[in-house]
Amino acid sequence: MMHPLPPHFLPRDQLQQLFDNLQRNGHQIYGPQVHDGAIVYAPLKSTSALPQGVEDHHAPASYRLKNNGSEHWFDWVSTAQGVKPLLFRPHETLWRATRDAMGTLHFEEPVNSTAKLAIIGLRACDLAALKLQDRHFLSINHSPDPFYAARRQHLFIIAINCTRAVESCFCSSTGDGPRCDPTAGFDIAMTELDSGFVITSGSLQGRQVTKQLALRSASKAECDEAAQREANATRQVRAVPSQNMRDTLFNALDHPQWDEIASRCLSCGNCTSVCPSCFCYSEQSEAELDGSSSEQQREWDSCFTQGHSYMHGITVRHDTRLRYRQWLTHKFAGWHDQYGRSGCTGCGRCITWCPPGIDITAELAILNRDRGETDDG
Ligand code: SF4
Ligand code: SF4
Repeated sequence: MMHPLPPHFLPRDQLQQLFDNLQRNGHQIYGPQVHDGAIVYAPLKSTSALPQGVEDHHAPASYRLKNNGSEHWFDWVSTAQGVKPLLFRPHETLWRATRDAMGTLHFEEPVNSTAKLAIIGLRACDLAALKLQDRHFLSINHSPDPFYAARRQHLFIIAINCTRAVESCFCSSTGDGPRCDPTAGFDIAMTELDSGFVITSGSLQGRQVTKQLALRSASKAECDEAAQREANATRQVRAVPSQNMRDTLFNALDHPQWDEIASRCLSCGNCTSVCPSCFCYSEQSEAELDGSSSEQQREWDSCFTQGHSYMHGITVRHDTRLRYRQWLTHKFAGWHDQYGRSGCTGCGRCITWCPPGIDITAELAILNRDRGETDDG
C-alpha cells in the first residue's frame, strides 16, 4: 500500500506550474470557467481562465453567480454539470458499417480515446458519483464499456475540498462529503487558503506530480486553517431522511404524493441530465438512405422520456407520475440491490436545475414521514 505524503503547501502563484507540468506530461486540462452565467468545466491552459472571486448561490429552480472580491479561484461549490459528459459522452458512435461495391458489409469500431485528461475542481460529491459511474461502466459482471474505460484510464483528478455549502447541498447526509474521501479516488486534493493551497496526494501519479513541484510541507497553522475552512461546508440546510430508503420507497408505490409531484413535474429530464450518477442511454441506427453505410449511435436517455420505457408497442411508464416514481425509487431504493448503496451523492444539482423547483429531499421526507401507512396500497 502506498504511504501518503504529508500535506504540502502550494503557493497561489505556483498553481500555474502544476498546470504547466501536467501539460508537459501530455494532459489536456479541464477546469471551472464561467460560461453563459454558470460555472462549467471547459479546456484551459492558464489559471487566468479560472473564476476568481466567484460564488454560486443555489435554491430550488434558482442559480446565481456573485463576485465576492476575493482572490480565490474555488469559492464556487458546484458546476452546472459534473464530469459525467467528459467520460460518458452525451452522444457517441459505437460502430459503423459500410457496404462495398460487391455488397459485402464491413464493420469498424471507433478508435478509443487515449487522450490524457486532467480535471481540476471535482468536489467530494462528484468523486463519489464518479465511483458510482465506475461501478456501472467498469463492472466485472458485464463487459466494461470500452469508451468510458479508455477515458477513465487516462484521467488525472485534482479535487477541491469545499469551504462553503450552498442551499441545495446535502452530501453530509448521504455520507459522501463535504471533505474528499481518499478512497473515492483522486490524484491530488487541495484546500484553498488566501495565499495558496494545502495539497495532499491520493495516488502514485498524484504523488509524482506533487514531488515535481518541490513543495515544502504545510505548516500546522496552514493545516488547521484548511480544516477550519472545510468545516464551513458542513453547514448544510438540506438532508435525506436516511441513507437507506429502500424499504420505505418500495412500500410507498401507491402513495398519493406521486400524484402531487406529477402535478408539478414537467417530465423535462433536467434532473437526470445534471445528475452525475445517472447512466441511462438509448441506441439507434443512423443509416444513409442509399444503404451504403450506417452508424450505431448511443445518447443519454432519461426515465422521464416517452421512449425510455417503450417495449413491444407499449410505453410502460406512460405518465409523469410513473416516470418520477421510477426516478426516485430507482435512485434511492433499486440502487441498494444493484450497487449496495443509493445512487445519490447529495450534490443538489437536480434541485437547482429543476424548472418547477422540485426538491428530492422534501419529497423523500414526505414519503418517509408516512412510511407504513401505504404498505397495503
Ligand atoms: S439525485 Fe440529485 S442530488 Fe443526488 S446525485 Fe443526482 S443530481 Fe445530485
Ligand atoms: S423533477 Fe424537475 S427536472 Fe426532473 S423531470 Fe420533473 S420537472 Fe424536470
